[in-house]
Amino acid sequence: MSALFPTYKRKEFQLQKGSGTYVYDENNKRYLDFTSGIAVTSLGHCHPEVVSALKEQSEKIWHTSNLFKIEQQEILAETLVKETPLDLVFFCNSGAEANEAAIKLAKKYTGKNKIITFKDSFHGRTFGSMSATGQQKIKDGYGPLVPEFVHSPWNESEQLKKNMDDQTAAVMLEIFQGEGGVRMGDDSFYNEIQKLCDEHEILLIIDEVQTGIGRTGKRYAYEHFGLHPDIITLAKGLGNGFPIGAMLGKEKLRDAFGPGSHGTTFGGSPLACAVSQSVLNVIFQENFLKDVERKGNDFKDMLIESLQSCSLVKEIRGKGLLIGIECERPVGSLIEKLEEQGLLTVPAGENVIRLLPPLTVSSEELNAAAGIVKQLFIQFQTVSK
Ligand SMILES: *Cc1c(COP(=O)(O)O)cnc(C)c1O
Repeated sequence: MSALFPTYKRKEFQLQKGSGTYVYDENNKRYLDFTSGIAVTSLGHCHPEVVSALKEQSEKIWHTSNLFKIEQQEILAETLVKETPLDLVFFCNSGAEANEAAIKLAKKYTGKNKIITFKDSFHGRTFGSMSATGQQKIKDGYGPLVPEFVHSPWNESEQLKKNMDDQTAAVMLEIFQGEGGVRMGDDSFYNEIQKLCDEHEILLIIDEVQTGIGRTGKRYAYEHFGLHPDIITLAKGLGNGFPIGAMLGKEKLRDAFGPGSHGTTFGGSPLACAVSQSVLNVIFQENFLKDVERKGNDFKDMLIESLQSCSLVKEIRGKGLLIGIECERPVGSLIEKLEEQGLLTVPAGENVIRLLPPLTVSSEELNAAAGIVKQLFIQFQTVSK
């Protein structure tokens, strides 16, 4: 018996090394890694610039605590807020922590309690972020939860409006519901959220933990919709696998997070920030992001064309390199078959295969993956007839 709590349903094999888009298990079987550690290793495995940033900083200093000035944090913060409506950054270690910071800040700044989030959303596993999450299965057995979260139906602005009142501090949303099935709202939904938040002076918090840092072909996914959030949260792709999270907020929020109001021991260490800086140096280049957008469009088109005649496939959707294939049935066994064929993917909800290649993926690798997916669906189609 393993000495680990069985909190995860793990695969039987281990990935022992990786390079770019490829990973290798203990039998040296090679896989195309379209999980990227769940949208984390966006520059692929062991990217040379990230490795060298890690090595270099690890020989200077790792950790000092936030008792001291940390220049790497200052530089990284500047890079994150540049050309955005956001001005200030708080560093932490994970997505859930970034969302905790956002929830605390919204309450403190507004003096109000209620935060509206959406059904099927995912915001993390700590008490605040779990209470914010709109999926019952995540919360079973943990009540009472943090009160005053209201879960509004996704993509329904009329309902959202009805849920707003004079005690509403913030609306918090993912631009795409990542864990909830790679689901996007309509343009009008995002426009309406922004308008309602502006009108009623409600803070707009966007959870970009999965969609941020280039995943959708923009630095942040809210940019696709011309939104101007008050707060955004980041984590997954921010450190390419080195744990780091961040909450970005507008200048007006500064005083609500004064000295002593919030904190963390590890958040924003020189080592984490140096690694993250090297990630952003690559991803936050216009040409790099354009390329992600182009590769994402090509890949989606390729999948749509390959799978259009498959009755098993309901919809193929996504933006940039966050793509979901919604099927007519649970996808667990399909994902296993893809794995046998050397392609690693992740489920999103019951019925969606989520494809998250590194942003550095090549067109050849995308072709190869699309080929494996096509083969499998054709096979399943014939077998089930
Ligand atoms: C993964 C995820 C989180 C939680 O991040 P952790 O680092 O696991 O705490 C929060 N929000 C979204 C949208 C996520 O995808």
